[in-house]
Amino acid sequence: MESKKFLLNEKDIPQVWYNVIADMKVKPRPLINPGTKQPLKAEDLYPLFAKACADQEMNYTDRFIEIPDEVRELYRIYRPTPLVRARALEKALDTPAHIYFKNESVSPVGSHKLNSAIAQAYYCKAEGVTNITTETGAGQWGAALSMAAKHFGLELAVYMVKISYEQKPYRRSIMQTYGAEVIASPSMSTKAGRKIITDHPNYSGSLGTAISEAVELAMSTPNCKYVLGSVLNHVALHQTVIGLEAEKQMELAGEYPDTVIACFGGGSNFSGLAFPFLRHNLSGERNTRFIAAEPSSCPKLTRGEFQYDFGDEAGYTPLIPMYTLGHNFSPANIHAGGLRYHGGGAIVSQLKHDGLIDAVDIPQLETFEAATLFARTEGIIPAPESSHAIAATIREALKAREAGEQRVILFNLSGHGLIDMTAYDRYFSNDLANYEVGDDEIRRNTAQLEKII
Ligand SMILES: *Cc1c(COP(=O)(O)O)cnc(C)c1O
Repeated sequence: MESKKFLLNEKDIPQVWYNVIADMKVKPRPLINPGTKQPLKAEDLYPLFAKACADQEMNYTDRFIEIPDEVRELYRIYRPTPLVRARALEKALDTPAHIYFKNESVSPVGSHKLNSAIAQAYYCKAEGVTNITTETGAGQWGAALSMAAKHFGLELAVYMVKISYEQKPYRRSIMQTYGAEVIASPSMSTKAGRKIITDHPNYSGSLGTAISEAVELAMSTPNCKYVLGSVLNHVALHQTVIGLEAEKQMELAGEYPDTVIACFGGGSNFSGLAFPFLRHNLSGERNTRFIAAEPSSCPKLTRGEFQYDFGDEAGYTPLIPMYTLGHNFSPANIHAGGLRYHGGGAIVSQLKHDGLIDAVDIPQLETFEAATLFARTEGIIPAPESSHAIAATIREALKAREAGEQRVILFNLSGHGLIDMTAYDRYFSNDLANYEVGDDEIRRNTAQLEKII
């Protein structure tokens, strides 16, 4: 049986984003000022972020927020994205479960990241900003923002985690093609970068450090804002176009998922697919299970502590309430670079704390095994990040087989892996390993957190 695609028309591109906070009975705790320990107001974020984004960050009341026409216009390049029933994968697993995936890999940069990059670049432009800075792990966010920045005529500087800068030169070239300046992080161009290079000369970088550098540059450059690709509430908000479309497409398929799965770095693609479905759990109509799939080498949701922590290594950001491994946590150099982040976003962390979503952690080799099976059945080579969602889906589909249960599983294919073939190469040469984090290492890191919660 062929895998089957469910398509929508351009007019079905959502008109609004869904703000899950409006429906949460227990709201996420506020961001707080690390100095005064007082909750932040939207105005406190205006120096750093576009005003519209700062307002969205603190919006706890509007269930739906209108998508500007200019943003929908650019979404038309690749949205609506397909929803696919993965019949070939089902057959290979010999499972009675129906497996669906939302294919965000069809965007021009190959991942879901463009959904928020377009929105954030638009708001910066609309507010008269001329320069923006950001960080990127594996390079997907940097690539997405480079495209969006060029479209709206903004100058962009990207701090790229050094290990990815070296391992993924093509992502760097993509950013340069769109006209962005790319700097390997840690770099000598910022105080934060110079400090970490001095303390740890061979440090291969982390998202936390790159964020510190980008924030520092934004704060010290006139008419410049900082733009973040995950973790924050407004980024999760922009990504809900994924789930809003998927909801309609599942209707076309005549089914509703009992399980929704996405990989988890800072939470943007998970939130984007999950929240529109979670809405029906919060209202009591449905009882869908939500699973965030994170790497065993960076297990914040499954093994981290629920506590206030900085979003970056140097401690420039506000304190964010989240499951965290500590902002000094240095994850192993796994190939899913986009998942090497120490914390989860405030909304997802609160939902996890309240038992409204689940998380699993997956070792690296299992993700590549899953990725290979997926490529050989469905034809798409997944990003190493997305492969965590595929591995978690396969686990669930095999459980359904054991139990003889006819389940409906939906997962997010957050991106393709065509620029990650070095990682696949290493997998095929048996040159990849699993990395487990010891309890003592986690405790050593989280022990340094100030106990505010
Ligand atoms: C960045 C990225 C991720 C991880 O980030 P989230 O904010 O957790 O979604 C996952 N998949 C792909 C393809 C990415 O580019």
